[in-house]
Amino acid sequence: MTDKLVVADRILTGFDARGAPEILDNSALLIVGDRIAAIGPTETLRRDHPGTPEIGGRDYVAIPGLINAHHHVGLTPFQMGATDQPLELWFAERLAMRDVDPRLDTLFSAFEMIASGVTTVQHLHSRAPGDQTAVVGRAQAILGAYQDIGMRVSYSFALRDQNRMIYAADETFIEMLPPDARAPMAAYLGGFALPLDDQIGVFRALRDIWADAPGIAIQIAPANLHWLSDAALEQAARLSEETGAPMHMHLLETPYQKEYARRRTGGSAVEYIDQFGLLTPRLTIGHGTWMTPDDLALLAERGACLCHNCSSNLRLKSGTLDLNAVLAAGIPCALGIDEAGINDDRDMLQEMRMALTLHRPAGHDAKAPTAAQVLRMATQHGAATTPFGQDIGRLAVGGLADIVLVDWKAVTQPWQDPAIGMVDVLIRRARSGAVKTVLIGGEVVFDRGQFTRIDRDEIHAAINRALNRPDTPAEAARREMAAAALPIVRAFYSDWDIHSE
Ligand SMILES: [Zn+2]
Repeated sequence: MTDKLVVADRILTGFDARGAPEILDNSALLIVGDRIAAIGPTETLRRDHPGTPEIGGRDYVAIPGLINAHHHVGLTPFQMGATDQPLELWFAERLAMRDVDPRLDTLFSAFEMIASGVTTVQHLHSRAPGDQTAVVGRAQAILGAYQDIGMRVSYSFALRDQNRMIYAADETFIEMLPPDARAPMAAYLGGFALPLDDQIGVFRALRDIWADAPGIAIQIAPANLHWLSDAALEQAARLSEETGAPMHMHLLETPYQKEYARRRTGGSAVEYIDQFGLLTPRLTIGHGTWMTPDDLALLAERGACLCHNCSSNLRLKSGTLDLNAVLAAGIPCALGIDEAGINDDRDMLQEMRMALTLHRPAGHDAKAPTAAQVLRMATQHGAATTPFGQDIGRLAVGGLADIVLVDWKAVTQPWQDPAIGMVDVLIRRARSGAVKTVLIGGEVVFDRGQFTRIDRDEIHAAINRALNRPDTPAEAARREMAAAALPIVRAFYSDWDIHSE
């Protein structure tokens, strides 16, 4: 890769220790290979590196590549046939989803993410049927897609060894179904019953395969408290300790999960996983919507991270995280779009605006997040939840050159009062159309609406060709399973007290 200069009117390099944005005027970044080799005044870098090709220029603002710290699938569940439901019912509703090729699926949302300035994704692969070889094969298709489009990914295959449909044993659930629905459901759930040792085998195999790939890292995802036995919680903690791999764990996403934790542990899910040594700086809790002040204090004490999934919590009726309490506790908090944002897409600019706007309680003195706090969530704090850590999420000499160039005229046309700070304007007004150029590892992967390595229109056409057909027999059977399961799942939770303290 040839050296290049990224030039902008203003470069946001990151945030200082107090969280204030650090912005350089009329500056440039010298990119050598996949890293930033120098940062300085444009004229100085031009003089010192004559003839170096330039990207950006006047009327551009450069920011660190954004990090979508919680992502699962490409085409959204809604697109694939599952309407929004409260999470526990949604697990049943999702049975109706169509099948789609994992490579096409991954590329679909990678296009959306990159076009909104996302350069790194935390891809949490929730479930895949079959044996270890089949799961590794599916993971390889996903990782290959990210590699081909040039997007940085932190990937994990979720560890899960129980309670695959409700917060109780699979056998309990199957027995609750009408007699003729039991055998198909048992066969379906059995397809996802890969032994825990083999799930760990998937992690180890992928880590070996991708050990030398700079844009791909493999980490661990203990799926959620209800999905893991005590033995599995223990093994996840030991695996992270042994390998140093970070972990991302859904926890306390809904009030039903809080009640499940109370029934299983007699207390708090956060305190419980701490007993297994899971609560370390290597852990990120996904959602954490129902954490108590004591949970937050323990999280802060242990140095663990949180990932806020704002749109998802709204769409699945999960509840609203007290983001202001999280920020006040000093917990590094990332931002994730999860399965889909408020527009049923993966627009990180929109998700930041949602996080900025949702957490504004009444009262003149009530705390609300600032635009700088939200952008820090989507950059520096998101980075901390991935194995790339300090190498991404900011623009620093020696760090990876993951850079987004924003057309500032497009953000501010026809007028924006200059007294309002750049970060405030960016988070409140920038739409994905203003994202002009995206570099990942020093390479331009998106420029003026075009992806440089893969043709988006061709992939969209291939997705349409693949899905524009009647249901396969397996899909038709799953639609029937979803219809049979939904009322049973609803009934299972009907007497759960979700309002107890
Ligand atoms: Zn999730």
